[in-house]
Amino acid sequence: MFSELKLDPRILESVAAEGYVAPTPIQAEAIPHVLEGRDLLGVAQTGTGKTAAFALPLLHRLVHQSGAPGPGYRPIKALVLTPTRELAAQIGESFATYGRHLGLSHAVIFGGVGQSAQEQVLRRGVDVLVATPGRLLDLMGQGFVRLDRLSFFVLDEADRMLDMGFIHDVRKVLAALPKVRQSLFFSATMPPDIVALAGQILTDPVKVAVTPVSSTAEKVNQKIYFVELAQKRSLLVHLLQSDKTITRVIVFTRTKHGANRVAEALEKLSIGAAAIHGNKSQNARERALAQFKAGTIRVLVATDIAARGIDIEDISHVINYELPNVPEQYVHRIGRTARAGASGVALSFCDFEERAYLRDIERLTQQHVPVVSEHPYPSQHGVPTPTDLSPRRGPSAGSGAGPRPMQSDRGAGHGRGAQGGGGSRGHGGRSGGSGGGGRGPRPGGAPPQGAPRRPEGPRRDTGGSR
Ligand code: AMP
Repeated sequence: MFSELKLDPRILESVAAEGYVAPTPIQAEAIPHVLEGRDLLGVAQTGTGKTAAFALPLLHRLVHQSGAPGPGYRPIKALVLTPTRELAAQIGESFATYGRHLGLSHAVIFGGVGQSAQEQVLRRGVDVLVATPGRLLDLMGQGFVRLDRLSFFVLDEADRMLDMGFIHDVRKVLAALPKVRQSLFFSATMPPDIVALAGQILTDPVKVAVTPVSSTAEKVNQKIYFVELAQKRSLLVHLLQSDKTITRVIVFTRTKHGANRVAEALEKLSIGAAAIHGNKSQNARERALAQFKAGTIRVLVATDIAARGIDIEDISHVINYELPNVPEQYVHRIGRTARAGASGVALSFCDFEERAYLRDIERLTQQHVPVVSEHPYPSQHGVPTPTDLSPRRGPSAGSGAGPRPMQSDRGAGHGRGAQGGGGSRGHGGRSGGSGGGGRGPRPGGAPPQGAPRRPEGPRRDTGGSR
């Protein structure tokens, strides 16, 4: 439970409002150490909840270390360095969300957009700065960013940072940081050059590692049903009525409304079911979970965010009523079954529109999900050709919500300045976006460095879908 983590009650309130029930493993392990002021080496991928693992304790430390911000200029106290504008924007939103009752300010800066909105925000002063390395260095060079009063530094996705050729920029930023500070370092993988970099940044760090998401998938017996959207409900009912090995099942939907509709339809057919999602009260969620644990209901219909952090044993099946548009989420979902070495089954319904999601999932897990072709509601579009599991190359590959293997994005044809997108974001999620204006040539004539060749996947939790 989050309440055991000794976080400021205002932070806990924001976390509860997000519908988080329990900390994810990386959060449970990392937060106490960060609160104690320790440096941290976190080996974790996106999708594990790592952003909150650093944002929550940092927010706590920021308010408790410096008290209420006084009037006048506010020096930057925390810097989060991240490789892409999408990650920067997401991290900025996380700080806004979790810190909404704290009165702290933050800004997000990245290249590819005009600088002036970012300059304005920085002139007013911010407590937390989230930045990509290129634009940060530009603004530092022009005197808009001073880091000499900083106490906290986070390097996010260090391995991607290296892959994208940002290592020199990272080193330049590091050189500008005060020596006495708390540093948190996150990377999905730990090749030797990342170990070396971590060694330069961290002092006596606590190491926290969570299993790479893609390996979870290997333990689960997965199957895919190609089905028309309109027939998913019939297929679900058919499976629940005909397969008695489905004793305790979580059915995942993408939206809260979808979860309600499915649960109601099952209840009407006397199949014990309840929905849990962020709109349900804490009481309603706890009641549903208790019934599910006790076996009074057989089906729990959940959205991704509601199901996170819930640890229930003996889940015989996970059914993906809708495939997630972020492939890591699929792995998290199916990891709900096959707990503690038990064998579990994950059945996924895939309509025509979702075939691209399936390809992304198969590329992430590097596995083909076996197809169940004999069922009463086959897709009128037939069965697609199997996914090409080789790493994707070139801009045309994939469907947007790409998988996140740590392949190099280097040389994809964009300069660092191509990290376009909105400008800074004030506290509380107001966007101070700015447009136009690329970045000039790189100082020192260094070769251009790769920027992501494709947009990151859509934000993992779009507003209404929790
Ligand atoms: P991250 O790995 O930081 O990119 O987080 C992945 C997703 O998990 C984000 O959409 C978060 O909103 C969500 N999340 C983070 N922590 C929790 C939690 N304890 N319970 C439920 N969802 C969470």
